[in-house]
Amino acid sequence: MRAMVLERAGDPLVLCNLPRPEPGPGEVLVRIEACGVCRTDLHIADGELADPALPLVPGHEIVGRVAATGTGVSDLRAGQRVGVPWLGRTCGHCRYCRTGRENLCDVPEFTGYTRNGGYAEYCTADARYAFALPEEADPVALAPLMCAGLIGWRSFSLAGSDAIERLGLYGFGAAAHILCQIATRKGIEVLAFTRDGDRAAQDFARRLGASWAGGSGEASPKPLDAAIIFAPVGALVPRALREVRKGGRVVCGGIHMSDIPTFPYADLWEERQILSVANLTRADGEAFFPQAAAAGVRTETAPYPLEQANAALDDLRAGRLQGAAVLVP
Ligand SMILES: [Zn+2]
Ligand SMILES: [Zn+2]
Repeated sequence: MRAMVLERAGDPLVLCNLPRPEPGPGEVLVRIEACGVCRTDLHIADGELADPALPLVPGHEIVGRVAATGTGVSDLRAGQRVGVPWLGRTCGHCRYCRTGRENLCDVPEFTGYTRNGGYAEYCTADARYAFALPEEADPVALAPLMCAGLIGWRSFSLAGSDAIERLGLYGFGAAAHILCQIATRKGIEVLAFTRDGDRAAQDFARRLGASWAGGSGEASPKPLDAAIIFAPVGALVPRALREVRKGGRVVCGGIHMSDIPTFPYADLWEERQILSVANLTRADGEAFFPQAAAAGVRTETAPYPLEQANAALDDLRAGRLQGAAVLVP
């Protein structure tokens, strides 16, 4: 099968012809229809995340069809459409798994990081961590939901979704453009903070329902109940903190961020909180996919042939994308 492989961090991916993987016990073989390109893939390719399983097939926003099932798989059948997310497997018995926080499992496996992912024609996945997806939908449109959508949803939950009337989103890419649609559908006012001067992103945010869009260097026109930072820019943390009300949360939605500058304690005072979001749980998926369907989320995608994975990563790195890049094998 064709696959784009990271052989060494910092190098471009290489087109390889790999043997088609065999599903082990409890696994499914997935024929990939589409795989989204996430900023995390960029951090892995650039060597900003430790110890990827090199040589590695990246990609964890996988939409495909079950091509074969390993022994012991009863919930999924051949031909069925599934989504394979970042959380590839958990141990089931560490303190986190036992307390409903499998996203923090002590010995997890991550798709496209510690096990091969979706920049390929086929992959295997633990059947227990694959989500059933709508059969009729466009696979390219579904792909960004698999991480950008899920992580946006988890960030929104941790930001205190039920108590938010006005939400700030810092960085208006794949995750924000999905969450903006869900939040505004719930009647929440969304303010979008983009790279300074990025008019295209600001227009995009307003088109998706944001009441205001401006540069992240600008002050918010109104106080925020919560803010979510999707851009990997630590300097945004104290900036967002100054914009949230008493008791408000600033949630960092990315896996990697530049250092956070110091700031006066007064900006944190009055029970403001800063927190990070790590990974996802299967329960997040069970909550998120119906919400995305109910909100009629439409993802903005830029499809690339599988062989163009390096161009997709370069476009993401340079901020040339609106919405999400998706590889099609
Ligand atoms: Zn565990
Ligand atoms: Zn991701």
